[in-house]
Amino acid sequence: MSAKNGERIPTKAYAAHSKEWKFKPFSFTRHALGQNDILIEILYAGICHSDLHSVSGDHHGTTYPIVPGHEIVGRVVAVGQKVSKFKIGDYAGVGCMVNSCGECDACKRSEEQFCERGKSIFTYNSVDYFHGNENTYGGYSNNIVVSENFGIKVAKDADISKIAPLLCAGITTYSPIKFSKVKKGDKVAVAGLGGLGHMALKYMIALGAEVTCFDIVPSKKKTVLKLGAKRFIDVNSDDFKKIKNEFDFIISTIPYEYDINAYHKMLKLNGEMAIVGLPVKANINGADMIWNFRKKIYSSLIGGIKETQEMLDYSIKNNIYPEVEIIPITRLDEAYQNVAKGRVEFRYVIDMSTLS
Ligand SMILES: [Zn+2]
Ligand SMILES: [Zn+2]
Repeated sequence: MSAKNGERIPTKAYAAHSKEWKFKPFSFTRHALGQNDILIEILYAGICHSDLHSVSGDHHGTTYPIVPGHEIVGRVVAVGQKVSKFKIGDYAGVGCMVNSCGECDACKRSEEQFCERGKSIFTYNSVDYFHGNENTYGGYSNNIVVSENFGIKVAKDADISKIAPLLCAGITTYSPIKFSKVKKGDKVAVAGLGGLGHMALKYMIALGAEVTCFDIVPSKKKTVLKLGAKRFIDVNSDDFKKIKNEFDFIISTIPYEYDINAYHKMLKLNGEMAIVGLPVKANINGADMIWNFRKKIYSSLIGGIKETQEMLDYSIKNNIYPEVEIIPITRLDEAYQNVAKGRVEFRYVIDMSTLS
């Protein structure tokens, strides 16, 4: 793989051509390597639950063919003339964003996901206005070109096959856990034990918090207790309804319709609940909230590039990695069905060497 001067870069990928979860080999070209860009040969890409929703057109509209994948890790194989952060041979990660306006206050303080001009460019299914408004294609592919500012450095000694999910599931949970200042001894909860939820569990255990897990799949109990959770509550059990005024912090990663008030009442006075699962379709009952006292609910979206780097360095240093199942890219269709049914513990990662 090389980047000839000014030429577009041929890429092999798997794409979905309609809202059905059916993938086929797909070839396209990526924009030429700019002075500040790096070309990454992708080694692994995670399958995020929101990839399923993007293919289905559940977010903001989908342009087909779509190549999902915003949990990407690989090796730098070419660098633009002005690149200083990476050199050829380094490992690099790419998460949910590949660029943003760079000029607004949010972008300047490295909260690019909250670009005040609404100009975050997402890794796939997004308009790249820096490159002729072409559609972006994600990580279910053999390479990606990205500005070095949006590449995340990955330490040489990292467990590389497990890095990819940190770029979305990791940062999406790490960021609100930091924002809410979760600390040792806090009573906290994770609602929804998928790729995101199990990372939230790991980070909060590392911080010394006492973690309760909620899920609709009772068979997850054994695994989450093994990972260090204090208890597991089946959302459809009577125990679920009894919990009140108990938690300092709740993170909800639930990607479907659910009753937010049911969790809100579980917070202690002044407790905080972060909503990170997409898409959320929820009616909030304001009166119920008032009678359940003063408690905060907020949303959070991934994290900025600076914080993503901090999360990755922290995770590698403290040996906090996702539980992954490595699959060949030919198993994508089957993997999507399993993710939808909660049958993966906890993240599928595609081995990109299987893309021929
Ligand atoms: Zn994601
Ligand atoms: Zn901006």
